[in-house]
Amino acid sequence: MVFLGINIASALANVTKVQVANVYICIAMSILVIIDFSGLSPSAPLFVKAPLKPNGSPLLGWLALQATLGAILLAIGYISMAAIRRWVERENLYREMSAVDGLTRLANRRSFMERGQSEFMRAQRIGSGSLACVMVDIDHFKRINDSFGHHAGDQVLVAASRILIESARQYDEVGRYGGEEFALLLPGITLADAALVAERIRETLAASPVETDGVRIPLTASFGVACYPSPGISTLDELLKAADAALYVAKAAGRNRVCKAPCGLAEADVPDQPLAQA
Ligand code: GH3
Ligand code: MG
Ligand code: MG
Repeated sequence: MVFLGINIASALANVTKVQVANVYICIAMSILVIIDFSGLSPSAPLFVKAPLKPNGSPLLGWLALQATLGAILLAIGYISMAAIRRWVERENLYREMSAVDGLTRLANRRSFMERGQSEFMRAQRIGSGSLACVMVDIDHFKRINDSFGHHAGDQVLVAASRILIESARQYDEVGRYGGEEFALLLPGITLADAALVAERIRETLAASPVETDGVRIPLTASFGVACYPSPGISTLDELLKAADAALYVAKAAGRNRVCKAPCGLAEADVPDQPLAQA
């Protein structure tokens, strides 16, 4: 009973460890039962043997009591396993909710930063490792909300996220960094190649107006690209700041363009377009 309590309480902390511990306990108990019943260790019996009547037959009332106790323990075990299963499901849900953005299903900022940190450390560990960051900010998104409503704005965010995910490689990290701001981490790539990736995404976004609620919403975004290793970039934070600074320059230069840190404009230098109304 004490172990059951400990199991249930521990399940909240680490379900996998509790399950592994249970397997070990079952194996150990089975071995002890075999030793006990085979009579290998008669001085320390694990189970109390049934008291016998004077004629040598076992006491049926005692056996019935043992069977009832066994049934109760089985029921408690079953209920405990069901409770643990519910906890596992709930824990998985909480884990997902704390890591995934509810609207776009991208990594949220917290989990993006966690993954980014390990990507950065990996790039640092590998002698010739590199890690590029692309910051993406949808242009004039407030106007989209104001013109077409928040629901349409949400659909634009979902569509933009899908394009980002489809444009990324399997081992790239894509996250929703803020409201209408996204970030990509591209391991093992140069600044120039990351700018080409950003340019490709920019073109795809600009060529993919979002159709929602019966209207076509044109969409553009600005991009800031930075890469580790570069002078002045020795932490993930500095990499993100450099990409953000490049994004700021892309915005100031007229939007719908890619800007590389330390902020020379990349090949995409498209004049800003006024937002077409439906
Ligand atoms: P800029 O081109 O300079 O980036 O201008 P902007 O309008 O895109 O940027 P601004 O920061 O002025 O506005 C961003 C807007 O995004 C404001 C906020 O209400 C909206 N927003 C943030 N998160 C969400 C969301 O989840 N859904 C919707 N529909 N809107 C959001
Ligand atoms: Mg914006
Ligand atoms: Mg913004």
